[in-house]
Amino acid sequence: MILLSTLVGWFMARRALSGVIQLTKTAEAVAAGALKERVPVKGRQDEIDRLAMTFNVMLERINDLIQGMKEINDNIAHDLRSPIARMRGLAEAVLTDDEPSPEALRLLCGDIIEQCDRLLGMINTVLDISEAEAGIVKIAIENLNIVEIVNDAVELFLPMAEDKDIKLKVQMPDKMWLTTDRRKLQRILGNLLDNAIKFTPRGGVITITVGGDEKGVSIRVEDTGIGISENDIPRIFEKFYRADKSRSEPGSGLGLSLAFAFASSLGGSISVVSSPGKGSTFTVILPKSLT
Ligand code: ADP
Repeated sequence: MILLSTLVGWFMARRALSGVIQLTKTAEAVAAGALKERVPVKGRQDEIDRLAMTFNVMLERINDLIQGMKEINDNIAHDLRSPIARMRGLAEAVLTDDEPSPEALRLLCGDIIEQCDRLLGMINTVLDISEAEAGIVKIAIENLNIVEIVNDAVELFLPMAEDKDIKLKVQMPDKMWLTTDRRKLQRILGNLLDNAIKFTPRGGVITITVGGDEKGVSIRVEDTGIGISENDIPRIFEKFYRADKSRSEPGSGLGLSLAFAFASSLGGSISVVSSPGKGSTFTVILPKSLT
């Protein structure tokens, strides 16, 4: 009996330990840089199997994060290169001119300031998104009439819309109060309107509708523009993502990521429905009160 129970005990301990040994080996391989390594799952449905599966899910997640960071780095490098190369080219042209005119120097300075503003804008937006995603963004709550905020935004974007013969329509009640952060709400709306005008051909219509109930407020921005393909929809809220069709328009691919991060930090959400060639509708939902 003693011999038999020793043997059974030894066998059981080895069986249990073999999973732990595999896990340790994989952890060591991952620590040494082999991020593609995974722990084999034996299919015994025991604790070790569950641990192995959790470990593998964690490795997948880390891999995705690293991949995402790599993509962002590549995009930042790419987006920084063009304005810097442009500034360098212009400065070189003026420098190789023996006697550059004051006019040429003024133009050079103007161009450099413009490119620097673009770069600073991009860097600040990336920082704003990171802060909002990390939950460390400052939120200044006040009681606001959303109707006023929408009217101000429409007034601001009217010249841009008129330049393209685009009609801006609003459908909203006289007043709708909510407690939220004014600046963030303005930036969400600004990005949606900017996109709607950019991606709507001449003669189109953009309709902004405000509605809500005692719990929340919805702001809908509907355009008759180029629309977004089914493949692009899941990716447009990613940092730096721009659909191929829209690359002829200026932009950095950060506006919707910022809008998404800000809407989440205000306890809300943002979603889209779109038909390529017909138009897109972005809907922001915010809680009536943040407290
Ligand atoms: P940007 O406008 O700077 O390119 P965004 O993050 O604001 O970046 O938008 C990401 C992408 O989503 C755009 O490049 C475009 O492809 C798509 N998109 C956003 N809004 C619209 C819209 N209203 N109509 C069509 N495509 C849009």
